[in-house]
Amino acid sequence: MKVSELYKDKKKTLSFEIVPPEKNSELSSIDETLDILCELNPDFISVTFGTGGSENCNSTIEVARKIKEKYNIEPVVHLTCLNCSKAEIDLIAKQLQQSGVQNILALRGDKIPNIQAKNDFKYASDLIKYMKSKYNFCFLGACYPECHPESENSVDDIKHLKEKVNSGAEVLLSQLFFDNNYFYDFQEKCKVADIDAPIIAGIMPAISKSQLEKMVSLCGVTIPPQLERIVNKFGSNKDAIFDAGMSYGISQIIDLLTSDVDGVHIYTMNNPMVAKRISSEIHNFIK
Ligand code: FAD
Repeated sequence: MKVSELYKDKKKTLSFEIVPPEKNSELSSIDETLDILCELNPDFISVTFGTGGSENCNSTIEVARKIKEKYNIEPVVHLTCLNCSKAEIDLIAKQLQQSGVQNILALRGDKIPNIQAKNDFKYASDLIKYMKSKYNFCFLGACYPECHPESENSVDDIKHLKEKVNSGAEVLLSQLFFDNNYFYDFQEKCKVADIDAPIIAGIMPAISKSQLEKMVSLCGVTIPPQLERIVNKFGSNKDAIFDAGMSYGISQIIDLLTSDVDGVHIYTMNNPMVAKRISSEIHNFIK
């Protein structure tokens, strides 16, 4: 099923992101995580893609195939294009078709220092335009409530997001954020720009100090004072930061669900306990 269908009856979705095993690891190393995540019956599970290009994509496709065939849950495959040629994208598209994958989160990918990107695709919207002209997938696009770090300002960011939607992105999936006000402001800006694709909020509970620091340096998201206090107080106690970070994330989700959010996507970091706890806490709000 195409993920865009889910939003036709204004359903609020709950979905998860997972990272496939690395190139030289056993594919089965993710089975236990998948067993738990799929038992929670999410609306879809997205599978990340290495930014290095097509040589890293096998485990992404294999994990997506397993999600579909073994668990009958809809997979969304992340696909980055900066380091892929059109021929490589065609090869991946055929593998995805053979695996029954219908949904692609079309991404540009990050620039890798000292590696010359290939020239076929400059932006995610180029990938969507190219694939849409040849294949019948549902395309999702990434969006950034606090602006993409390379955007000069939010006006440019929203202008390019609108181009991405016009090129065929039917659903938008947001970067993680810890202050819902950024998301609400972003929704408002999209409305003003006539961007009417459903916008799914990306949430990553801050369950470890090092993980949080890594995400902040990678994505440049803001840590609100309340979360900063939590991390300073409990950061060195593994159990305490897990509980406090989960509580913070769950209250963010409940606040989003009581507002006008189309869906919530959990960055599980392959920790199924995160998804399990969230599912049980918000069960009554989402169904
Ligand atoms: P784009 O939409 O192409 O935008 C990139 C920048 O270019 C933005 O600043 C945009 O405003 C600007 N821009 C767009 N069009 C134009 C134009 N016509 N002219 C001038 N400027 C323009 N990375 C991975 O490697 N693997 C993953 O699996 C992965 N999953 C992700 C999932 C989500 C939900 C998100 C939010 C990000 C993910 N990323 C992943 C990271 C992503 O690849 C990076 O954020 C990347 O830098 C931008 O990708 P994009 O698709 O948003 O780019």
